[in-house]
Order: sequence, then structure tokens, then C-alpha cells
Amino acid sequence: MSLQSMTAMLKRAQANGYAVGAFNILDYNSMRAVIDAAEEWRAPVIIQTSVKTVLFWGYDAVISWAKQLTLHATIPVAIHLDHCTDIDVIRKCIDAGWTSVMIDASTKPFTENIRLTQQVLDMTASCGVSVEAELGAIVGVEDDIHVKEQEAHLADADQAVQFCRELPIDCFAPAVGTAHGIYKGEPKIAYDLIEEIAARTGVPLALHGGTGLADDVFHRCIALGCAKVNISTQLKYAHIDGFVNYHQANQVYNPLKPIAAQYDALKAAVVENIKLFGSAGQA
Ligand SMILES: [Zn+2]
Repeated sequence: MSLQSMTAMLKRAQANGYAVGAFNILDYNSMRAVIDAAEEWRAPVIIQTSVKTVLFWGYDAVISWAKQLTLHATIPVAIHLDHCTDIDVIRKCIDAGWTSVMIDASTKPFTENIRLTQQVLDMTASCGVSVEAELGAIVGVEDDIHVKEQEAHLADADQAVQFCRELPIDCFAPAVGTAHGIYKGEPKIAYDLIEEIAARTGVPLALHGGTGLADDVFHRCIALGCAKVNISTQLKYAHIDGFVNYHQANQVYNPLKPIAAQYDALKAAVVENIKLFGSAGQA
């Protein structure tokens, strides 16, 4: 099955009360772990790439891994560009073969956010690439986007409705109280806001800052309309710990051994989330 956009997989998830996991990969090994986990558990899946990761390896390298790894896949797989503020990077990803992109103009004034998101929708209109956009400010650090706690603010429900009415986006990421990175203390999730935005817009919602949320928080957010859940920080930990723990325990200078251990740790983390989000068996 070739790479596809998020449009159909998110609509299906929304209609059936589960969420598709969007997992931030860092290299070939992590991308392989995500796709293998999803294939094994028959789950639709989103390979998510940060701008930093794309620029580190280059557009052609990243897309070639995705194409090779999905050559024999029997599950729907999308490759999605996470939090991008740069229209030029979005254009290059679309040209290279990404099937989905996120324009993050959430730090801009409302009308400018609409204008930039529309610009991306104009670029994707003819090529079937799905678009995610953000409103409000999600606290924490994602790539080079730093939002301090005092700068974070939730999305406004009326603005969210206007945003989704004007823009035919495939996925909407309103700030609802989750945070990027590691939670310090109990997150305050605005469930009523998720419910209101989901009901009034009908657009599948993305839950950012998934790492560290309790199982019941995920279940509640998904039941209210979050059809995409982003997991990044947990995989960064699995990536490093999987390799380092193996090396510390074995001290063998055969790099393929800790790389295999890293793969196992990443795959286990992805499987855990796929089961939690209810997407296992949905492909
Ligand atoms: Zn995010």
C-alpha cells in the first residue's frame, strides 16, 4: 500500500471513536519501528517528521525510507510534516512526496494565521496532501518553537469555529491545555473546549503533547473528538534509552546490537500507544 494522506484515516477514526497515533521519527530505525509496530497490530499510522529531522537528513533521504518501508505494507501509512512555520519547507516536502503537512501559524495574529493556512491549502488543493493547522498556543518546546507557560493560551471556541468554517483543513490542533515535552505536575485539560470545538466544527482534532498523559485522559479526549494523537517525547526517550541501556549492560562494541535494542524499545512504545488509542485492528 502506498503512502496516503491523513484525510480518510482521520475521518474513519473520528466516526469510530478511536485515534490514529502520529509518531515522531528521528531516523530510519525509528521509522521502521513505527511501521512494523502498526503492521503487526493492524493499525493505521502516521509517521511524523519534525522540520529539524527533515533538514538534518534531507528531504530525499527521509521520503525514500518511507517509500521503501511501505512498499509491502498492508496498513494505511501517512507521512506528515509536524509544526512547520516555513512555507518554503512545506513546499519542498510536498514536492518530495510527503502526504500531509502541518502549517503552524499559531503565533501569528488570527487573520494572518488564516491567510498562511489558506496559502498552504492552495498548494495542496490539486495534489491530495492533507493539512493540519493550529490555533492558540501549546506550551512547551517543539522543534525550535518555544512557548513559555505565561505565553500559552487556549484556543477560543468561537475563533476555532470561524477558523474551520473558512478553511477546509483535514485536521485541527486547538490548544486545549496539553503541553509539549515532559509534564511538570497534573495537566489541566479543557475537556469542555475539546467537546465544543469538535461538535461545532466537525473537523478531526489533533491532540498534541501526548507523552505523559494518563490512560483515562487519552480515552476521554479521544471520545470527545481527538482523532490524531501526537507522540514525540516518549519516543525520544526510547531512542536514547534503548541504545544506552543495552550498551551499559553489555559493553559490546558491535553497534548493530544496541541499534536492535533501540528498535525494540521504540517498537514497544509505539505498540503501547496503538493499543491505548484503540487503533489496533482498525486497518
Ligand atoms: Zn505539537
